[in-house]
Amino acid sequence: MEPAATPGTLYLVATPIGNLGDITYRAIKVLSSVDLVAAEDTRKTKILLDHYAISKPMVSYFNYNERRRTPQLIEKLLQGQSIALVSDAGTPGISDPAYHIVHSALASSIPIIPIPGPSAFISALIVSGLPTDRFVFEGFLPVKKGRKTKLGILSTEPRTIILYESPHRILKTLGEIQSVFGDRNVVVARELTKKFEEIVRGPISTILPQLTAKPTRGEYVLVVEGYIPS
Ligand code: SAM
Repeated sequence: MEPAATPGTLYLVATPIGNLGDITYRAIKVLSSVDLVAAEDTRKTKILLDHYAISKPMVSYFNYNERRRTPQLIEKLLQGQSIALVSDAGTPGISDPAYHIVHSALASSIPIIPIPGPSAFISALIVSGLPTDRFVFEGFLPVKKGRKTKLGILSTEPRTIILYESPHRILKTLGEIQSVFGDRNVVVARELTKKFEEIVRGPISTILPQLTAKPTRGEYVLVVEGYIPS
């Protein structure tokens, strides 16, 4: 069995993307033994910690306070505290904050240990049925500036393309992809690992009317077939 958390170490701990059972023994062990948990959403992380009967001091670490919070956490690490950084869901640093503290921790020679686990994009990719040997993860497309340019570049990308999208924009994004890329095969993976998990596969011309027929709710990953020259 792994020893308790090492003093002065930053742990990047992956947590479930919906199903509370999707957490590793090692993650539980680390969360139980660190001095402090830095969480993107402390209320959500408290639900997870309570579920596993873990009681820990927590501080928030999210996009809008990361610059202010990072030096405070670095100071604690340098004083010998061990810290687990967890995001809202999934793997810290994948479309959510972590980069800033990782960068600063490295600059201060603080050891960083990954505790791997779920990430929504990998789960969507492996069930997509689209090629998994080569793929690009693009995270969220730019909302305004640079969106058209990005879509233009991606339209000739031969690897499978993975995007994160909000329920408010999923239909618009699919429509835009159809007009820039043409009628590609896509996979829309919704609410993975949760009660209303749904995975639909097919050409955009078929998928879009299906999705338009009902309200779009929850969290989405969009997997798009890469460009195949004709
Ligand atoms: N760090 C997370 C990870 O490793 O997947 C991603 C965080 S990002 C802020 C949140 C986005 O991930 C959501 O808007 C959605 O696109 C995707 N996502 C997260 N959980 C999901 C789920 N259970 N099903 C589908 N997509 C999900």
